[in-house]
Amino acid sequence: MVRQRTVDVLVVGAGPAGLTLAAEVAAAGAGRVEVLEREERAGGIPRHCFHGGFGLVDLRRPMRGPGYARRLADDAVRAGADLRTGVTATGWAGPRTLELTGPRGIERVTARAVVLATGARERPRAARLVPGTRPAGVLTTGELQQAVHLYGQRVGRRGVVIGADPVAHAAARTLRLGGVEVLALVTDRPHHPAPTLTRRVPVLTRTTVTELLGRGRLTGVRLRHQDGRTTTVHCDTVVFTGDWIPDHELARRGGIALDPGTRGPAVDTGYRTAVPGVLAVGNLLHGVERSWFAAEEGRTAAARVLGHLAGDAWPGPGLPVRVGGPLLWVAPNRIHPRGPAPLLGRFVLRATEPLTPPRLVVTQDGRTLYRQRGVRPVRRGRQLPLRADWIGRADPDGGPVHITG
Ligand SMILES: Cc1cc2nc3c(=O)[nH]c(=O)nc-3n(C[C@H](O)[C@H](O)[C@H](O)COP(=O)(O)OP(=O)(O)OC[C@H]3O[C@@H](n4cnc5c(N)ncnc54)[C@H](O)[C@@H]3O)c2cc1C
Repeated sequence: MVRQRTVDVLVVGAGPAGLTLAAEVAAAGAGRVEVLEREERAGGIPRHCFHGGFGLVDLRRPMRGPGYARRLADDAVRAGADLRTGVTATGWAGPRTLELTGPRGIERVTARAVVLATGARERPRAARLVPGTRPAGVLTTGELQQAVHLYGQRVGRRGVVIGADPVAHAAARTLRLGGVEVLALVTDRPHHPAPTLTRRVPVLTRTTVTELLGRGRLTGVRLRHQDGRTTTVHCDTVVFTGDWIPDHELARRGGIALDPGTRGPAVDTGYRTAVPGVLAVGNLLHGVERSWFAAEEGRTAAARVLGHLAGDAWPGPGLPVRVGGPLLWVAPNRIHPRGPAPLLGRFVLRATEPLTPPRLVVTQDGRTLYRQRGVRPVRRGRQLPLRADWIGRADPDGGPVHITG
């Protein structure tokens, strides 16, 4: 028989966003707060990031990933949240009822508020449409970090890292720590923004992977360079980095509208989806940002969860905010002209090409609401902030708001 229970707040995903939100609402006396995590340990991505770079902004002290993950989990439990690991939310049995699979079998839990904090993942090789065989030795950064740091596995001897996101550094460092010689960093972009690392590792820019070679185990990658030459790098490990996709499967199964740009749930500036009582926070909304940003989104959304529990009316869907030109996406991506400001009073955007300097224009029905001219160039894939003080000028009965670059 399927066990049925009710709680006040059900948070799916115990990464920085979900744990911070859970700690806030539990400390504020929200009633029964439960956090679900499909992995055996809570903490999300930082669990397997053994480098520093965490905690300075949100906890006021520099920390390594695992220590940061433990601290956030401890804070949530200390505040009164019930943390359940090894439990996966697999689907919906009602607008705020989730189906869970875990050590207790299958359960149905109904909550007054559901918060989706399921994070983002790197697109695996299969989704990148790289031709060739399907040998072992092909990983994403997340898989590599878990293999090396959590399970102490030996992943290979000679590796190649694909991608030019900051996460490519982390992949190369992890390969080295795992005893793998890093043969090259490969990117189709004209530059690789990894100056310290690139002094020691050959960087192949304007280069694409055309084929993976090997049966059983990877034996090499075939590359095409800008001048049309093809070469083969003989290696037994390749790591595909970056190219994030929100982990939106659960949101999709719940019929929650996704934003066409981010492919995460469409949310307003209070992190509310169009489904009453369902919110979304963290990397699920936009791919990878810094952990403090995901944590602060959780903290900001906590106020909306508490308001909902206290009986605040759930707003309508609001006005969609769309991007055009070289812009890829904006988050949050719905506004209510009299609604709250987003975190830090700004929207975050991404562009498909470098903007030097970035110029953004916000319009609604042909009327200009705001113009922003940046000072510093913004590289492709880096956060592009847009001030939010134009929200009140939008017509609540007008059409979608457009941002162009
Ligand atoms: C290699 C790498 C290095 C990084 N380095 C830094 C750094 O130095 N400093 C920094 O500030 N940030 C860094 N980041 C970014 C930071 O880790 C993320 O921004 C942060 O973890 C996002 O938090 P989140 O809670 O949104 O998602 P996540 O941390 O991804 O947590 C989501 C959690 O939800 C769980 N989950 C998903 N679906 C379900 C389900 N259906 N049921 C139950 N559980 C589910 C997942 O298992 C996961 O634990 C790095 C990221 C990467 C990938």
